[in-house]
Amino acid sequence: MAFYRKKRRKAGPSKNDEKVRRAQTAEDHERAAGTLSSRFPSVRALKVKVAIATPQGVVLEESEETYGPNDPFFLEADCPGSCGSGSYDFAVLIAQSLENLQERGVAQIICAEASYSGAAGAQCGCVAKCEFIAEVIPS
Ligand SMILES: [Zn+2]
Repeated sequence: MAFYRKKRRKAGPSKNDEKVRRAQTAEDHERAAGTLSSRFPSVRALKVKVAIATPQGVVLEESEETYGPNDPFFLEADCPGSCGSGSYDFAVLIAQSLENLQERGVAQIICAEASYSGAAGAQCGCVAKCEFIAEVIPS
């Protein structure tokens, strides 16, 4: 017996399309961002630790990455919270610190996207904490 699946009505872009589009945008951003060495020639390595937690303090995601001179200076994380669309951009904050010759620091970004699980007008409110340590070539 043949099985006919009901055709689903298409409402807006599918999740997969959106994923592909986001990946492409991310790639464009990566290219535009330049490498670590092109932005900060004296930085030999950059260790970045990120922890993203809900407003209640439940850690949803933790990561640690080390960037080399040829890696793109692209430090963005998707928000795993209830917004489903937020992202955190640490590059600006870290770049500011490096420009001020601070080799280490902590940045914190709160997601301001609308939350889909809460009441109308509620914000996602997830908190991303980013800790970084730069290894600078001694001059
Ligand atoms: Zn969020």
